[in-house]
Amino acid sequence: MSVRRTDPYIWVTWLTKLLAGESQCEWAAWFRAHHSDYDRLPSDFDLAAWTVEHNELVQLRREQLLDEGWQVYVEDENAFKRIGKTGIVVSGKPDILSLRDGKAVIEDCKTGRPRTSDQLQVLVYMLLLPIGDPRCVGAKLSGRVTYRSGGMDIPAGSVDAVFRAKFVELVQRIGGEKPLPKNPVWSECRWCDIGPADCLYRVDQPPESAEAQTDLF
Ligand code: SF4
Repeated sequence: MSVRRTDPYIWVTWLTKLLAGESQCEWAAWFRAHHSDYDRLPSDFDLAAWTVEHNELVQLRREQLLDEGWQVYVEDENAFKRIGKTGIVVSGKPDILSLRDGKAVIEDCKTGRPRTSDQLQVLVYMLLLPIGDPRCVGAKLSGRVTYRSGGMDIPAGSVDAVFRAKFVELVQRIGGEKPLPKNPVWSECRWCDIGPADCLYRVDQPPESAEAQTDLF
């Protein structure tokens, strides 16, 4: 049975796929933001394998940065919780924060193929981590997404007014009382852990392609 939270709580990765347009089921994020527990479906996702691969990549980057003379903080050392004036909580945990020569670089390591949401995740970290974090005071802040094949740097100016406005608008919608629209499509439902006790609209099968003959080609 689902348990309602007293204050909305949003994990950063629930926002970034919506911001990137890689996911459209706003209701799933809204539901998670407002419920601390619910009947979760088992997932095909191999969490153990992902964790091993991800940790290897984070440790590799950590060692590279230490060799280059950076001061490096990883994972739990970077966990943050930001509480808005509306009571909405946004929480996250950047993989790496590195400091050197007045520069602070927030970095996330990804073992999968590059996605737009990877960059947006780092942008959200760049927006929220420095709030109240003494390590970032006075530092020139930038970001980076690291893949096995290389990295993508994100300049400080990327956290602009347009991005801030989109972020705030989405946080207020996800954290608001009004339930948001569902998007029951197989490509999203197949990765969703919200069970039928809370969502009756799950699509379990891929759509069949509509076939028709044509003389166009
Ligand atoms: S099962 Fe599908 S429609 Fe229901 S919340 Fe999850 S993604 Fe949205």
